[in-house]
Amino acid sequence: MTPSQQRGSFLFLLVMIASLGCSRDKATTASSAGSSVLPSTQSSAAQPANAVQPVGPAMHVDAARTMQYTKEIVAFGPRWDGSKGMDQVRTYLKGKLKADEVEEDSFVADTSVGKIPMRNFIVKFPGAKDGIIVVASHYETNYWLRKTSFVGANDGAATSALLLAIADQLRGKKLEGYSIWLAFLDGEESMTREWNNDDALWGSSHLAKRWQADGTGKKVKAFLLADMIGDADLDIQRDTNSTPWVEDLVLQAATRLGYQSYFFATTGAITGDDHLPFKAVGIPVADIIDIDYGFNDAFHHTIEDTLDKLSTKSLQISGDVILETMRLLNSSQGAAPASTQ
Ligand code: ZN
Repeated sequence: MTPSQQRGSFLFLLVMIASLGCSRDKATTASSAGSSVLPSTQSSAAQPANAVQPVGPAMHVDAARTMQYTKEIVAFGPRWDGSKGMDQVRTYLKGKLKADEVEEDSFVADTSVGKIPMRNFIVKFPGAKDGIIVVASHYETNYWLRKTSFVGANDGAATSALLLAIADQLRGKKLEGYSIWLAFLDGEESMTREWNNDDALWGSSHLAKRWQADGTGKKVKAFLLADMIGDADLDIQRDTNSTPWVEDLVLQAATRLGYQSYFFATTGAITGDDHLPFKAVGIPVADIIDIDYGFNDAFHHTIEDTLDKLSTKSLQISGDVILETMRLLNSSQGAAPASTQ
């Protein structure tokens, strides 16, 4: 995500507060409705009119283990494409997923700094229903920060760890709903400091085009992107570039778990992230992102993005809401035709 986008979203927030905009009112309403609901109950009175019922048993990530995975990824040091750290992280991921069906999607990105070999990993858990839900995170750190100690604890490590923790929950289970695919994406970050969508989103662009060409895209019911959501000060924004009904399900999932106060108090457009190439080929998407990392986003893309800025609680909230959103997607009829997205 770009710094200018960040400034834009703050301005947007100021305007929203100044005008007591409807989004803010809506967030307040959702908050008071949810407070009377126990996490595991299904009180119809507290659910929105368009609420869908979950399919499959409730699942929770092991947040302590997620934090441990984050530490292990960070311990490899900077993991920009071409680095030793990146090789080590790939080996680490494969080791954690050795019991699973893992597809390696290798390609060469023709970037502004030269041709760079990259690799996405797609971990597949088959479900009973015909269709796929994808959960994704990028796992590399920024090439332009390669001469610093930047380890992207929140930006890439925590969300890759979350995917590993979600895999732990899915492994060995018979899934009643759609198949779940976890995508570890390479090359999300822009190669140069000045963000350029044509010099970033390499892994997602490659995979989205492949899925469009081979017909996989048509089977994907929704693509959920996790980005920077280990932040101890968790505030996930509503992204106007995501598919509205998928975003609504994310909020519904958060509300069911009593976590709605961490979601959608602010609204803005995410114009540079891995959900966009999938959206461009007609897949419903939601970018689950906290773009307010440290005061005035001070930790974002700086060497301050370290483990001490994260919390186990945030990993629990983010992971559980993603798992709950999957259950809601299983029964949702919301796979709207591409023309309405
Ligand atoms: Zn980043």
